[in-house]
Amino acid sequence: MTAHSNSQRLFEEAQNYIPGGVNSPVRAFKAVGGNPLFIKSAKGAYITDQDDNAYIELINSWGPMILGHGNTHIQAAVAKAIEDSLSFGAPTAIEVEMAKMICGMVPSIEKVRMVNSGTEATMSAIRLARGFTGRDKIIKFEGCYHGHGDSFLIAAGSGAITLGQPDSPGVTQGVARDTLTAPYNNLDSVHEIVKANDGQIAAIIVEPVAGNMGCVLPAEGFLEGLRSLCDEEGIVLIFDEVMTGFRLSKAGAQGVFNVQADITTLGKIIGGGMPVGAYGGKKEIMDYVSPQGPVYQAGTLSGNPVAMAAGLSMLTQINEDETLYADLSKATEALEEGFQANLDELGLGYTMNRIGSMISLFFTEEHVVDFDTAKTSNIELFGKYFREMLNNGVYLAPSQYESLFISKSITTDAVGKIVEANRIALKAIH
Ligand code: PLP
Repeated sequence: MTAHSNSQRLFEEAQNYIPGGVNSPVRAFKAVGGNPLFIKSAKGAYITDQDDNAYIELINSWGPMILGHGNTHIQAAVAKAIEDSLSFGAPTAIEVEMAKMICGMVPSIEKVRMVNSGTEATMSAIRLARGFTGRDKIIKFEGCYHGHGDSFLIAAGSGAITLGQPDSPGVTQGVARDTLTAPYNNLDSVHEIVKANDGQIAAIIVEPVAGNMGCVLPAEGFLEGLRSLCDEEGIVLIFDEVMTGFRLSKAGAQGVFNVQADITTLGKIIGGGMPVGAYGGKKEIMDYVSPQGPVYQAGTLSGNPVAMAAGLSMLTQINEDETLYADLSKATEALEEGFQANLDELGLGYTMNRIGSMISLFFTEEHVVDFDTAKTSNIELFGKYFREMLNNGVYLAPSQYESLFISKSITTDAVGKIVEANRIALKAIH
């Protein structure tokens, strides 16, 4: 057993000053039990807590650190940017470079606006879609998470699935009524909702690969079906690629599935570890954003030069690395095969979903294709598994309803260590 006394002390103190002791709920380990680890530093594939325990980690700050921790190019770019001051609140050359880079990498993005988080990106994208179409309602999918904007806290992540009922106190009934929900991968249901709300749907927003109910892949034809429906009905198709953007390919999920969105929302990797988000898409839609158009959206720190330096360095490295996605996929596949061998040996029921460097292990034998099937996973067993993995030096996302991410720092050696930890953990919980 490793010592966690410093983390425990910090968590007790934090709870006096910060709601729940954390600045984002999932960090509190509520879903898996035990106290959260307070982190001191990270390098490559390893993260070190305040008690000097080192873990191989598969969270990567919930996605951004795709190149591993302590990337020297990003750190140097940030250090250089800081020399010129931290913020101007005025246009800078690096914002133009960043926008050009994004438009060059993601073919469906002709113009892009930088914001400070994925939540800001999705909130702004929805407002833009409403302004552009003159319609109020949106469709989202059960189990998809699009940040904590009011419109999205309906059937989000692990929330209750009741049409029109907000999952969080503070979301008004009015907002909830304008958010219609459909099961992921269920095209018929989307068609029915569109028919029942003829001419009223502004946007369909979807994670093209869902990562917030665990990793759930789009069924064949699902994204194409949404694209055709949106084209037929004049609905804005928003791909929320906050997680999948630059994770699955240089052009995100769109590059893998070859289906283009009208608006794409980005975050996580785009900031290289700094708080950055973006939304972009077709010129005719993006030109509705102020000051060019009537849809208001602004930000004191938007396009912050230090954040842009980190993000641009990240995207430049990704753009120049011809084998990155193949390498990430290979490492993740090796992990998947190792896990499968361990699970099969023990005869434990499971489902594993993977695409590129996103992977989830569900403790269920159901084929996980949507939120309902994701919820058949044995959550109690997952909690035990999480704690055993931690005891064996591997830090997983502390929730079944999160995808794991593999970074470039996960070498063959690290894969071997994770698979061995998985073997010991599974034996312990079996
Ligand atoms: N959209 C997706 C698909 C996400 O996974 C997340 C965060 O996990 C968000 C939006 C919200 O991004 P942020 O946490 O930066 O506000």
